Amino acid sequence: MLLNHPGPGTLSVWAGEEEYLMQHATQVPVVHSVSFGYRDVDEWLQVARGQKPGHIYGRNTNPTVQVFEEKVRILEGAEAATSAATGMGIISSTLFALLSPGDRVVSIKDTYGGTNKIFTEFLPRFHVEVTLCDTTDHEAIEAEIARGCRLLYLESPTNPTVKVVDLARLAAAGHAVGAIVVVDNTFATPINQNPLQLGADLVIHSATKFLGGHADALGGVVCGRRELVQQIYHFREINGASLDPMAAYLLLRGMKTLHLRVRQQNESALRIARFLEGHPAVARVFYPGLESHPGHEIAKRQMRGFGGVLSFMLRDDTFDAVRRFLPRLRYAHPAANLGAVETVVGPPATTSHVECTPEERAAMGIPESLIRYSTGIEDCDDLIADLDQALRAV
Ligand SMILES: *Cc1c(COP(=O)(O)O)cnc(C)c1O
Repeated sequence: MLLNHPGPGTLSVWAGEEEYLMQHATQVPVVHSVSFGYRDVDEWLQVARGQKPGHIYGRNTNPTVQVFEEKVRILEGAEAATSAATGMGIISSTLFALLSPGDRVVSIKDTYGGTNKIFTEFLPRFHVEVTLCDTTDHEAIEAEIARGCRLLYLESPTNPTVKVVDLARLAAAGHAVGAIVVVDNTFATPINQNPLQLGADLVIHSATKFLGGHADALGGVVCGRRELVQQIYHFREINGASLDPMAAYLLLRGMKTLHLRVRQQNESALRIARFLEGHPAVARVFYPGLESHPGHEIAKRQMRGFGGVLSFMLRDDTFDAVRRFLPRLRYAHPAANLGAVETVVGPPATTSHVECTPEERAAMGIPESLIRYSTGIEDCDDLIADLDQALRAV
């Protein structure tokens, strides 16, 4: 029903929905049903064996959840997609489904805090060796990949210092040694970046962030090569971290405006980054859209927009200055979230790296006084005025 090559705006609105609409409804139904009944036992068997489309039990599949997966799958140009209750649910399902004792993983130091915990705390207990490389040292990452690995796990831009990783270059290095290449695309969204087109095998989203966009539902999704997604789905159905149909509906509803929100957030974040870069009370600004950002050229190559998240440090780089600055912002929730319609701010100690100790954050090169700023869809002039008055006060 979709015409040839619709754009991401059209896909955000229409993709994946039509065959699930019921009774002439124009909106996807929220199917609150734990199980699905069949008087025809042969049909039941066929569905159970996967020979016929359909649903058996809500922990495995659900129609509303399936529409959400379809929409993300189509936006990322993937063969298949499966979801979980949270971003971490799908990240852990992906890693535990695809790795076995004796395997080796190569990744970067700047992955999301929860992902980093899986690498440093949980995978080693299952005798999976994990090597975390300096995120921007591509030669060093390639050298570690060349030693052989089962899985290469990347994220770009990273959280919260928005470092940029050359996905095409590292995906090629990963494939040269037969590794599965996984990319967490949460910060970029499918509107700004499609890792599968850059060579990744799997792309992951914490749908809690930009995809849902309204900070009212948790969810995670992975899409990519069918046989890999099938393995992850199988682990997730057994592990049980399934996405709830109501959350899937909220995420779907949020996704209808994904392209509009992200376009606005790209534009505002770039203006705000430039404003902060020129402000005397600000010491450093991290945003891939700035010419001063070391990953700017790579970002220009692999992204269509630079995203809604930036981070910065005050000239007074004490945590006390952060403590005074944050509550002064009128148009920003001090909270552990990002990618929402409202602007959200916070330091790593209470947001992306809340699971880590100050020493661990320091080892990852994440300053305690860093402020992550996730640009909402408010009028950019108001956000700049708000930042200006708060900066004057500190
Ligand atoms: C938030 C986040 C996650 C984890 O997602 P949850 O939905 O909170 O479990 C993973 N990766 C990135 C980049 C994130 O920002």
